[in-house]
Amino acid sequence: MSFRALLTERDDAGLVSSRVQAIDEAALPEGDVVVDVAWAGFNYKDGLCLTGGGALVRNYPHVAGVDFSGTVRSSSDPRYREGQSVVLTGWRVGEIHWGGFAQRARVKADWLVPLPDGLTLRDAMVLGTAGLTAMLAIERLEAAGLKPEDGDVLVTGGSGGVGSLAISLLGRLGYAVTALSGRPEHEAGLRALGASGFLRRDDFLAEAAKPLESARWAAAIDNVGGAILGRLLKQVRYGGVVASVGNAGGIALETNVLPFILRAVTLIGIDSVMQPTPVRVAAWQRLAGLFDSASYARHVEEVRLEDLPDAAKRILSGQVHGRVLVRPD
Ligand code: NDP
Repeated sequence: MSFRALLTERDDAGLVSSRVQAIDEAALPEGDVVVDVAWAGFNYKDGLCLTGGGALVRNYPHVAGVDFSGTVRSSSDPRYREGQSVVLTGWRVGEIHWGGFAQRARVKADWLVPLPDGLTLRDAMVLGTAGLTAMLAIERLEAAGLKPEDGDVLVTGGSGGVGSLAISLLGRLGYAVTALSGRPEHEAGLRALGASGFLRRDDFLAEAAKPLESARWAAAIDNVGGAILGRLLKQVRYGGVVASVGNAGGIALETNVLPFILRAVTLIGIDSVMQPTPVRVAAWQRLAGLFDSASYARHVEEVRLEDLPDAAKRILSGQVHGRVLVRPD
């Protein structure tokens, strides 16, 4: 039986393009569990996969989509039964394995997480990779000793998926959060989500840079890298910790060692893709208890498979706000 999928292809000239096509289940890659996809998330990395960026996709034709939620259609693995609600993020699904931009996916049972109680399939993809990553980053900050009374936490790329969800989760946990964003039009929305401060990206970079600046942040979650990460490290308080999550603003890191050797600042890396299953299950359960879907609703946009090539251009040029949800029907 055939179903709809957004098939991404590369022509002889190397041009990558995608269009919705009917494909047969027999065309799906090998795996133990077939899932009827209810929702897929749309992430920065999906923008790269749909446009051939970052050399993430190696084989064509390809079905992108790094995260999805849905219902088990069939399973040869005893851990999953027909009708069970599941979530998948990471494991390079959507990059080297066919992903969620289709009505159906076949994946390894090892990659799945049962949908935690308290979340709908839709909520799970409002969170998606972005929400899981934000939760993992917060947990690493907590493990480094961060507590709400320590002071302000800076979140960069504030109006993006990871950024806005990090602001929302930190706010729910009682932290004072400052959002850094290139889009002042989202200030009110980010404050409503939980930010108590707002910094414009241009203003932040325009201040004269010094080797070490006034200490302002107890911690930071950085989604953009580049000049902004280099700059914020110089503003972190003694003993503070910074989680490096993303590179939406570039992969370079220009800074100096003074924040590390004079202020004992710690820079930690966050990866959501290859996290072991027990870590994921625990993070999803915590998300289910923390996430306030009603207050996040205004930051969610729904699109269909046909809309994704355009969404890819928007996310890669920093124009997407909050989370984009994909309905594969
Ligand atoms: P989004 O596109 O939703 O958010 C990125 C945000 O970064 C934008 O909304 C924008 O926020 C800001 N931004 C965009 N371009 C620039 C720029 N040139 N300079 C400075 N800021 C910029 O992406 P996601 O939230 O999905 O992902 C954020 C980053 O984290 C990406 O690099 C992604 O690849 C990475 N990521 C990493 C994961 C991991 O496991 N380590 C998992 C998930 C994502 P604003 O306009 O508010 O400034």
